[in-house]
Amino acid sequence: MSAIDDCVQAAEQAAENVATPTLGAPPRRGLAAVMCMDARIDPIRILGLRPGDAHILRNPGALIGPYELRALAISQRRMGTREVMVIHHTDCGAAGLDEPALTAEIEAEIGTAPAWPSMPYQEVAESVQRVRACEALPYRDGVRGFVFHVEDGRLVEVDV
Ligand SMILES: [Zn+2]
Repeated sequence: MSAIDDCVQAAEQAAENVATPTLGAPPRRGLAAVMCMDARIDPIRILGLRPGDAHILRNPGALIGPYELRALAISQRRMGTREVMVIHHTDCGAAGLDEPALTAEIEAEIGTAPAWPSMPYQEVAESVQRVRACEALPYRDGVRGFVFHVEDGRLVEVDV
């Protein structure tokens, strides 16, 4: 059986417990969070959330690009969210990944260094600044950045 088959089977068994027939789509806490897609990170458990509480956007490195800004604009303008958390983490990427070597390899191949940065605190600061600079978003005062430490579970706010 494949991993997807396992998930489909689990979903069949969980259906009764995960149904939300009375829950509205707008996030109850007025929150959107942009997080890394790292499989070790469970937003629900880390942030003390429940289904219906927040929009969670995920990508490698919790980067803010056009698709994330579009999602945040929809989240704020159509779903009533007011605050944005940007959450990156330590030990991002495959275990043992040598970021400088990867950057050098790409630069050697295509002539320019990749546009993505490799330091979680710096990345979060840049992502927060991108959200704050997006004039399509009506609510930019409540944008804050964090780094989740996978080693000990701490969520550390980044000064931006
Ligand atoms: Zn990551």
